[in-house]
Amino acid sequence: IWSRACDKLRDILSKDVYERWIAVITYKGYKDEVYHLSVTNDFYLSWLEENYSSLISEAISSVTGAPARIQLVVERDAVPEPEGDEEEAPKSRRPRRQGADANLNKDYTFENFVIGPSNNFSHAAAMAVAQSPSRAYNPLFIYGGTGLGKTHLMQAIGNFVLSKNRRKRVSYLSCETFTNEYIDALGQKKLTQFRKRYRNVDLLLIDDIHFLRGKQQMQEEFFHTFNALFQNRKQIVLTCDRPASELKDLTPRLVSRFEWGLVTELEVPDIETRIAILRHKSEYLNLAIPESLLFFLAERISTNIRRLEGGLIRVASYISLTGKKDKKDIEYLLRDTLDQQQDHYVPVDLIQRTVARHFGIHVADLMGKKRPRSIAHPRQIAMYLARCLTQESLPSLGGAFGRNHATILHAYRQVEKRTGEDNQIRQTVNTLKQKIAAEARGQT
Ligand code: ADP
Ligand code: MG
Repeated sequence: IWSRACDKLRDILSKDVYERWIAVITYKGYKDEVYHLSVTNDFYLSWLEENYSSLISEAISSVTGAPARIQLVVERDAVPEPEGDEEEAPKSRRPRRQGADANLNKDYTFENFVIGPSNNFSHAAAMAVAQSPSRAYNPLFIYGGTGLGKTHLMQAIGNFVLSKNRRKRVSYLSCETFTNEYIDALGQKKLTQFRKRYRNVDLLLIDDIHFLRGKQQMQEEFFHTFNALFQNRKQIVLTCDRPASELKDLTPRLVSRFEWGLVTELEVPDIETRIAILRHKSEYLNLAIPESLLFFLAERISTNIRRLEGGLIRVASYISLTGKKDKKDIEYLLRDTLDQQQDHYVPVDLIQRTVARHFGIHVADLMGKKRPRSIAHPRQIAMYLARCLTQESLPSLGGAFGRNHATILHAYRQVEKRTGEDNQIRQTVNTLKQKIAAEARGQT
C-alpha cells in the first residue's frame, strides 16, 4: 500500500520535493486503523505534519479506497527496511544498540552545538564533564530560558560519553518522566526496582528539574538518588529554567546540593550566533535558503532557538513548495513567529487609543482618576504597553497619562508579573501588541 501511495505522491509532487520530504519516510505498518509512519528527526516531522499530512493520507486512501488516518512519529535510529506485510512488527527485527536505553536524541551532539558568547561557558563546562565524568564538576547545573539549548547540551554530554564507551550506563530523562515513573513504581510496589535503575547509572541526566517545585515527596526521593550517585562518584547533570536558589518550594538541602558542583547559564544568543546556528542547521538539513533570509530570520526571531529553527523549517518548506523567496511573503508566513516589529515609531496616544477601543472605554478614562476595575485594568495595560513599545522615559510617559513616573513603573511591574501568571492577560497583551503594531504600520 505504502509503495503505491508513494507512486501517487511522486506523480503529484516535484521530484525535488518528493526526494527531500517523502522518500525519507519509513512505513511502519497499519495498526488500530492508523497508518504508522516514521521519520528520523523532528524537522521532518514538523514539516510533514504542517504541509503534507493530508496529502499523504489522501494518497493512501486513493489506493485503499477508504479514508486513511496517518500517524507520524520520530524514530531516531530508524533503519529503512524493505517493504513488508502490514502485520509485521519491524521493531523486533532491528538490532538493539548499546546505549539505546539512554534515551538520547543522536542529533544533540557537541558537533551540532554552535558556540557563541551566550553559551561558551556552559559549553566548556559540559565538555569538561563529558570528558571526565564525576571528576570535573559534579553536579553540573545548567539553567536558562526555554529553547536556549539546555536539553541539547545535556544530551551532548550523554552522546559524547557513549561515543567513548558504549557500555557506560547513561540515563537521560525529564524530571517529569522521573516523577511519573516514581509514582508508577510506588503504585505497583516496585520501588526497589525503580531505585536500582537510577542509582546504578554512570551518568544521570535529569532535564527540567524545576518540575520538582512543590513536590515534597518527589524531592525527598530525588535527594536520595542524588546522594547515592554522588557518593558512588557518578556524574549528575541537571537543567532548570532558573537558578536553583530561585526555585520556590524547593527544600534548601536540594538547593545547596545543586550548587555543589558548577552552575552555568545559557543566555539568549546574539545575532551572530543566531546566524551561525541557522547556517549550521540549513547545511545539516540540506536546505536551500538564501543567506539574506537567514539574516532576516536571525534578526527577527531573537529569544528562542527552537522558534528560530521552526521558522527556518517553515521557510524552507514554503520555498520548496511555492518557489517564492520574497521577504514580504516570508514575513507574512511567519507573522506569528517573528518578534514584534520595533522599528515603527509608536506614539503613546496611538497606544492609548488602541487600548481604549479594545476595552470599549474612552481615552480620557485612561488619564482620569476613576478607579473601578473596568478602567483601572485597561489603564495599567496601556501604561505597560507604553513602556514596552516606546522609547519614552518614565517621567514623559507619566505626563502622557497624567501621573508620575512611579505609577508607570508600578503598572509596568504589575502587568509584567501578571502576564507571567495569567494566560488570559498574556493573550490580551499580545493581541494588543499586534493591533498596535498594525496601526503603527498603517500610519507610516
Ligand atoms: P531547552 O531545553 O533549553 O528548552 P533545547 O535544548 O531543546 O532548549 O534547544 C532548542 C532547539 O535549539 C534544539 O533543536 C537545539 O538543537 C537547538 N539549539 C539550541 N542551542 C543551540 C546551539 N548553540 N547550536 C545549535 N542548535 C542549538
Ligand atoms: Mg529542554
